[in-house]
Amino acid sequence: MAYDSNNIFAKILRGEIPCKKVAESAHSLAFEDIDPKAPVHVLVIPKGAYVSQHDFAEHASAEEIQDFWRCVRQVAEQAGVAESGYRTISNHGADALQEVPHYHLHVLGGRPLKVMIR
Ligand code: 5GP
Repeated sequence: MAYDSNNIFAKILRGEIPCKKVAESAHSLAFEDIDPKAPVHVLVIPKGAYVSQHDFAEHASAEEIQDFWRCVRQVAEQAGVAESGYRTISNHGADALQEVPHYHLHVLGGRPLKVMIR
């Protein structure tokens, strides 16, 4: 799938629509999900134009990949869920019901989470 630069997260990255920023690094941005499914529900995205995790894993540089995962860790630390536990989810493609075609990782926690796959 080609990258669509009009997707909502591309607009957030360009500052065209607002977000509640949680963390930012050289290659990544983390912000609160607009429709949180848990007390902590943060989305971490790369600043680069990647459609999904599958695309990111193939095309991102080692520097971008390291930066991304360090940002995920920072989000968990800042949210205070590193000790209690948290879940990361990334949806790729139709069967996973990916809604926004810009790679994002959901960081969820802040309470005991139920089984989410049905
Ligand atoms: P997906 O189903 O693609 O894995 O998840 C997309 C996520 O993006 C959903 O959890 C949804 O609530 C969130 N989302 C959609 N539009 C916006 C928006 O404009 N701002 C923010 N912060 N989150 C959004």
